[in-house]
Amino acid sequence: MNYLNQPVGKLTGIGAQTVNRLKRLGICVIQDLIFHLPLRYEDRTQVYPIGALRVGMTALIRGRVEFIDILSKGRKSLICKISDGTGFISLKFFHFSANQHNTLKPGTLISCFAEVRQGFAGLEMIHPDYQVISNPDAPVTESRLTPVYPLTEGLSQNTLRKAIKQALSLCKSKPELLVDWIPESILKQYHYPSLADAIQTLHAPDESISMEALQNGSVPALKRLAFEELLAHHLSLRKIKNKAKVWQAPEFTGDKTITKQFLDSLSFKLTGAQQRVIAEIEADCRQRHPMMRLVQGDVGSGKTIISAYAALLALTAGYQVAVMAPTELLAEQHKRNFDAWFEGFQTKVVFLTGQLKGNARKELLQSLADGSSGIIIGTHALFQEGVNFHRLGLIIIDEQHRFGVHQRLALREKGQQAGIRPHQLVMTATPIPRTLAMLQYSDLDISIIDELPPGRKPIVTSVIPAERRAEVIDRINHWVAKKRQVYWVCTLIEESEVLQCEAAEKTAELLTRSLPDVRVALIHGRMKSAEKDAVMQAFKNYQIDLLVATTVIEVGVDVPDASLMIIENPERLGLSQLHQLRGRVGRGEGDSYCLLMYQSPLSDTARQRLGILRDSNDGFVIAEKDLQLRGPGEVMGTRQTGQMHFRIADLARDADLLDNIQQAGDQFFTEAPQAIQPLCDRWLGTATEYSEV
Ligand code: ADP
Ligand code: MG
Repeated sequence: MNYLNQPVGKLTGIGAQTVNRLKRLGICVIQDLIFHLPLRYEDRTQVYPIGALRVGMTALIRGRVEFIDILSKGRKSLICKISDGTGFISLKFFHFSANQHNTLKPGTLISCFAEVRQGFAGLEMIHPDYQVISNPDAPVTESRLTPVYPLTEGLSQNTLRKAIKQALSLCKSKPELLVDWIPESILKQYHYPSLADAIQTLHAPDESISMEALQNGSVPALKRLAFEELLAHHLSLRKIKNKAKVWQAPEFTGDKTITKQFLDSLSFKLTGAQQRVIAEIEADCRQRHPMMRLVQGDVGSGKTIISAYAALLALTAGYQVAVMAPTELLAEQHKRNFDAWFEGFQTKVVFLTGQLKGNARKELLQSLADGSSGIIIGTHALFQEGVNFHRLGLIIIDEQHRFGVHQRLALREKGQQAGIRPHQLVMTATPIPRTLAMLQYSDLDISIIDELPPGRKPIVTSVIPAERRAEVIDRINHWVAKKRQVYWVCTLIEESEVLQCEAAEKTAELLTRSLPDVRVALIHGRMKSAEKDAVMQAFKNYQIDLLVATTVIEVGVDVPDASLMIIENPERLGLSQLHQLRGRVGRGEGDSYCLLMYQSPLSDTARQRLGILRDSNDGFVIAEKDLQLRGPGEVMGTRQTGQMHFRIADLARDADLLDNIQQAGDQFFTEAPQAIQPLCDRWLGTATEYSEV
């Protein structure tokens, strides 16, 4: 057994208690210590003359205690003044012991390390890290930058440093223990150091490496490890994709007469982009292996009809289809669309909600089990409640960004029968820059709809402060007088649905009062789905002029005559989400407007971000720009990044690495296929891997 895989308790000075504390940091075996990298560094390589200190510096100094006292005015504190002949500085302790008071007697020589602050009477250090110097000739400096590690309660830097030092010297004496899984060719190509060098450099950087380079992540050692980690995530998803190819899937050959009849029955002609994507799907479904395709297309690009076409292929081949949407509202809309599109076809479209109870539910489940229902539409409840299919051939997941990687992967096992797996079609309106898609979606094939249906006019977007609310309300009056409809979207801290609903209720009341001639209605996530459905239907039927909503209307909902949208506090939302919200308007004939009504003051970045939205209607451009401005976390939103946890890589700092991931991934498969599994194990751990069981 590799010594690095031994429990950390094997190291000297690590007792049972420390073992438990380390476990909280995810450190169990010796190798984990090696990959527990510093959070930051401290520079104790030189002693600063006290006279040269400036506010804000973090520095090592050396001097004699001149004076010590306990101040009891205000907050009790121990004050100690030291000097080195070039100047004075005060040390301040709010927590101190009697012993401390005694050891810091005037005349004592000490070294201190802390940030320099502006005190009441000159410079000061608060709670400095200090040491009494017994031998004045001994050096107080360190030869290298001092690593500062992430800690957990009860664990000290010192204990951790000592443990890591032991682990590192083990590696140094037996370099073969720490296997470098990255092929030589990749290291050469990107000028990366070996794994052993990278690890040593980060734990104990030598003089050639500056503090700045470590902070901004430009050190090759750090780049290499971040690259390796991203690559591991990419490879683990690609492995799943490759594995899926060995599964059998039903073959949908399609029937020209039936597909033609279907397309002819539509009230519109497919765009070129839609036709291209449909051809890609048809080709996938003719393979005898499960399709795993992601369709990315801007809001309103017409993804639903594409999924219906795929459903038609499955039905024609005698298979059932499951359609999963993130909200009931959206699922209901799909139900209506599918009902209309499949009217002339011999199939039953059913809708499963959590509300469906008793006999109705039993009947529905029975119709799925015996195959008399061809299409089932619903939310994630579809797959949680023991629904059994007669012959499931296709799973469609709409607005997949609402579901995590794990949910997506878990779904693959559903509907598996006798070694046959259904095809999967995944749709998203969150355009993700290509490089990020390589990382997030490398288990999927990607189709892009880069064309909107004809006649769509760009939405005119303005950014205005909330102080102009009265003006906006006035504008609603004029708008409604012209027989046009309006959305008013209340956003609030996304996590709190209750608060968001309350805010929407208040706004609806206020608008009802200020707009007596306008028919105002409210829709929010805490309403029953039947109520929501009724409100949405009434809005569609033009029985409502102004719909006050929370972000529940974010995805998919389609009302062509609504052409003005006010979004309150847009600065709180991600650009992609705002873009999706805005996509609710601009679906009809006339001009459409979106007012982003922010709360002043607006930060510079927020102003820039909203400006991006004002200047572009293209989801891909918006995502790209947001990536440049704020990093991928913002583009994907926490909901989406929440699924990928990195130990070292920081997508904002290391975005440049993404460009090479795909190619390096290819190289791995041809040059070092045997290294893929161990590399994934090292970075993702065997337990947290996106595993398929
Ligand atoms: P999304 O991609 O946002 O899901 P939808 O599928 O909801 O978009 O389509 C938006 C609207 O555009 C729907 O009313 C749909 O019927 C309509 N639509 C889709 N494709 C076309 C087309 N090729 N020409 C005209 N209208 C279309
Ligand atoms: Mg949609």
